[in-house]
Amino acid sequence: MQRQTRREFLRSLGVLAGSAGAWAMLPQGVGRGQGAGQKRPNILFIMSDDHDAHAISCYGSKVNTTPNIDRLAKEGMRFEHCFCTNSLCAPSRAVILTGKYSHLNGLKDNKDTFDGGQQTGPKLLRQAGYETAIIGKWHLKTDPTGFDYWHVLPGQGVYYNPPMIEMGKRVKHQGYVTEIITDLALQWLKGRKGDKPFYLMLHHKAPHREWEPAPKYLTFHDDKKIPEPATLFDDYSGRGRAAHEQDMTIAKTMNNRDVKLVPPNGLTPEQKAKWDAAYDPKIKAFQETNPQGQDLVRWKYRRYMQDYLGCIASVDESVGRVLDYLQEAGLADNTIVIYTSDQGFYLGEHGWFDKRFMYEESLQMPLLVRYPKEIQAGSVNQDIVMNLDFAETFLDYAGARAPDDMQGVSIRPLLQGHTPSDWRKSMYYHYYEYPAVHSVKRHYGVRTQRYKLIHFYNDIDEWELYDLQNDPDEMRNVYNDPAYADTVKELTAELKRLREKYKDTTGTPI
Ligand code: CA
Repeated sequence: MQRQTRREFLRSLGVLAGSAGAWAMLPQGVGRGQGAGQKRPNILFIMSDDHDAHAISCYGSKVNTTPNIDRLAKEGMRFEHCFCTNSLCAPSRAVILTGKYSHLNGLKDNKDTFDGGQQTGPKLLRQAGYETAIIGKWHLKTDPTGFDYWHVLPGQGVYYNPPMIEMGKRVKHQGYVTEIITDLALQWLKGRKGDKPFYLMLHHKAPHREWEPAPKYLTFHDDKKIPEPATLFDDYSGRGRAAHEQDMTIAKTMNNRDVKLVPPNGLTPEQKAKWDAAYDPKIKAFQETNPQGQDLVRWKYRRYMQDYLGCIASVDESVGRVLDYLQEAGLADNTIVIYTSDQGFYLGEHGWFDKRFMYEESLQMPLLVRYPKEIQAGSVNQDIVMNLDFAETFLDYAGARAPDDMQGVSIRPLLQGHTPSDWRKSMYYHYYEYPAVHSVKRHYGVRTQRYKLIHFYNDIDEWELYDLQNDPDEMRNVYNDPAYADTVKELTAELKRLREKYKDTTGTPI
């Protein structure tokens, strides 16, 4: 029955004989663009937090293997140039929900509160007849709106024994957060009644700082080789003040809690025993060798990666469990499965952890999409897409018209293997959270396939230009290099055009 459409199935039961069919009863606008008798696809949106593409093996990771996440690339499409418009947790979530830039959806940094009264993709999907749910990390301060069911972590949430909020009520959970979120998602999927298509946002907390792995993965990466990035000891020569004055280095900013010289709170006695068994030998070895200088950075980097990758092991396992369920339930063919993260992350590149900068590691989001009916297995896309496009893409698949004030573009043609001739050649970025933790200065910029122009502003007025073809690691700002004078001129005009197009009047004008 998997390959049979719903209409064919119903017809075989005699249900549709001579009737106008179910489409006549759908709300206005629904069904447009759908072939007659096509059942609208379910949408499973899986998003982790701070999962850098370079920690996913189908993206060529040198430090990790993710066999289950890789299944989505093998059976679907992998995007190489998916970018976030503002590389920070809550702002990226707000962009994904609204299809609007931060300056219009009202959530510019993690201190802002999301206005749940505004139009969102989930609300429109629900109006279009989808059953909607969010399970896991929410992080937008106000309660979720537009969902038939929600069960979320308060704030950042915790890894062990996390309290959660189910439809407004506080619930206690015992266990490990990634496994709990997965269990809840499967429970919701299995408990669905009726035949509405679903839109499920399955949002993991992992692998967000402080990177606390599940008990079974506490020592999982202890014996694995974890190569160091070439720029681990970057001294930021060749770049401006912003790179010099940030506060997100492994050397100085990463603390004892991050590297687990201090254990987390809230463990049960059993969890604590496993934790101590895993970490006491590491702490002892550290005290005995007492590394200093670059050796200390190397030790911290390794500790950081062991825990970060340990968290991802559970996320990968979760993806496998959910994909297996879709297969077993006969839902795999008619469900669009998306895997992404709210932004990228530094895995020691430039000596950093965290995100925020418009540099490649934090700008890029992993994006994998599987939908056997439209997407060629094992395909790779190089076009520029953004988290801004997600809401409109899902509305497109739901057969609902996207409102004119959404600012993205449906990526459905790309998924079908056709890049429209007028597809965007550049993307616009704007980061706001400063002064704040990690001290990354405010900046906006434009990225094309080859270049990136950035303007740092507020208590600074500096421009940076990178030629990604000749300098993929972004080590040399060529803004003042006469050889790039024309490029600077063109990109400045493009940046100005994009600020006007997206109606962004925030930040220092160009
Ligand atoms: Ca994040």
